Formats: sequence, structure tokens, C-alpha cells
Amino acid sequence: MKYEIIRSKRRTIALQINSDATLTVRMPYGASMEYVERFIADKKPWIEKKQEKFRTLGLQHKPKQFSEDEEFIFAGKAYPLEIVPGKTARISLIPEGKLRISQKCLEAPKHYIEWFYRQYAKKYLSNRLAELARAFGYKYNSVKINSAKTRWGSCSVRGNINFSWRLVIMPPEMIDYVIVHELVHLEIKDHSRRFYARMSELMSDHKIREKWLKENSAMSNI
Ligand SMILES: [Zn+2]
Repeated sequence: MKYEIIRSKRRTIALQINSDATLTVRMPYGASMEYVERFIADKKPWIEKKQEKFRTLGLQHKPKQFSEDEEFIFAGKAYPLEIVPGKTARISLIPEGKLRISQKCLEAPKHYIEWFYRQYAKKYLSNRLAELARAFGYKYNSVKINSAKTRWGSCSVRGNINFSWRLVIMPPEMIDYVIVHELVHLEIKDHSRRFYARMSELMSDHKIREKWLKENSAMSNI
């Protein structure tokens, strides 16, 4: 883990995650590097969680360049882009946590990456929908994926549920919120008090999630 060190007359070590997701370590003059390394190792999960959050936020408004190491988000997790040689179009998420595309895809990167998001969304959202429907005792008819930009999901009177593939750019807990919202629409079509009462029963913090989604919807533009 890379970090910048600032030594001063302080007594304790403090870790600071900057808005560009870099780590600054503030430490006493006398502290040994071994001690600092151990301290950082202990806090690693916390550091990574914070860094992830800043990375995610940082991606909000930047248009994509489709360059090496540029990050693409799947279910809230950032995957740096890896470009490999290849005359046929290939694209996949590799176990090393990267989005690997072949050179060929660069002829129309947005097209290929959107196509890939759609495949990912189909799989992720239909699995998760099935799980949550089972958990909460709902029955739906079908699930389809569209490209809607301003609507995460919808539910028809016949019980057909639609999701935008853009939803899978959001963190898992936000995806769950949209899924549960559509599941409740199977039972209650409008956004009445009864609807929100049911939402609260199934997901007590649904209001916080809804607000977060509204504030961060720009993340879904790639
Ligand atoms: Zn609704």
C-alpha cells in the first residue's frame, strides 16, 4: 500500500484518506517504520473501504477515455481497464479484479463495454431478484434489461419487471433497494403511504438508500 508520511510532534498515528483516494499517514517523529507498517496493516479493511468510496465518487462526472487503468464499476466495485492485444472483440472481468478488453474493442469501446454491462446486469439482477423475491415471498412474471437513463426499474401490471443495466454500476445495497422497490410494486402499484409502509417493513433504511441513489445517479453514465 502506497502512502505519504508527514512526521510531526504528535503522539499518535493518524490515517487520512484524501479525496483522490491517496493515503496520508501522520506520525510522531520517534515512531518506527515497522510500527507504522503494522498499524496500517491492521487498518487495511477500513482504509480500502474509504478509498473505494472516494474512487467511486471521483468517477461521477468524468467522461470515459477508455484508457489503461481507467476504472469501471460493477456492483459498486471498481475494475481498472486492462487492454490486451487481439483482433477479435473480447471482454471479461478477470479474477485479478480487472476489466480486460482486447484491442479490437477500442474501435467502439462504449458499444462493447455497454454490451458487457448488459450481460453482467442480466445475470446479476435476475439472480438477485430471484433471491429477494424468494426471501420476501413475491412472485413475478419475467425480468428484462433496458438502457433507461433516468429510471432504474419498473414493474408492469402483469408482473414483468424491467431494470436498466446502469443499475449494476451502483453499490449492492442500492441495487437491492431498487429490486425491493419493484417487488413491492407487484403488490402495491402506486407510491402511496401503504407502499412506503411496506418498504419500511422490508428495508428499514430504504429512505437513505433512495436519497443516495438520487444524489449519485450521475455515476451511471459511462
Ligand atoms: Zn416506484
